Amino acid sequence: MKVCRFQIGKEIFTGTINGESVTVLENNSPGNQTYPLAEVQLITPVTPSKIVCVGRNYADHAAELGNEVPKEPLLFLKAPSALIGSGDVIKLPKQSAQVEHEGELAVIIGRRCKNLYDDDDPTSYVFGYSCLNDVTARDLQKKDGQFTRAKSFDTFCPIGPFIETDFDPENGWVTTRVNGSIRQKDKFSQMVFPVDFLIRYISNMMTLMPGDVIATGTPAGVGKIEAGDVCEVEIDGIGILRNPVQ
Ligand code: ZN
Repeated sequence: MKVCRFQIGKEIFTGTINGESVTVLENNSPGNQTYPLAEVQLITPVTPSKIVCVGRNYADHAAELGNEVPKEPLLFLKAPSALIGSGDVIKLPKQSAQVEHEGELAVIIGRRCKNLYDDDDPTSYVFGYSCLNDVTARDLQKKDGQFTRAKSFDTFCPIGPFIETDFDPENGWVTTRVNGSIRQKDKFSQMVFPVDFLIRYISNMMTLMPGDVIATGTPAGVGKIEAGDVCEVEIDGIGILRNPVQ
């Protein structure tokens, strides 16, 4: 099922997408209100309490920035106020001269998740998956020595266009394009720490709440985006997250 949030006028709905139409979800099942997909404005598919990100989770990406592959996941947080949906504009902040794209798989948590043990199944806590662009002010990340400012400018977390609940990351791919040319492409099987490991690991530090997002790291090929560019993160089996840059 493809689950989205959308807006008509000032009203916000949760819906499910079937082909070219979207049906409003009432108590988690499709009701009788249906709209043409082209006539609604999709917004961020989730409103998480936190966005937990994983740094250097692909060996080739760690190497391109001159970093070692970490021995355990390198975690940081991105501010939920940075979220935008597909079609929204990534705004380049004046404080940075080097803003870069990072195409990633986003895991959306479905139910409260705390202290998972080895025999718990982490994927049973997943609601679904989406495309995410972990937009980063690379110059500020290097200058600050930590990630908060570089990762959390407003508009620095495009996610969407919707959540796919029927998706198996095992065989998935992510491709990032700028103005149609491929900048990043890799399979999720190349992650240093796979999705189930990450959920268990994070749940032993902080309680994951329904709607929380885990950004699972980016493959090699990160690079600068500039005003006028259009950035796309595509995951086969999910969809295309497309954002213009200004
Ligand atoms: Zn990232």
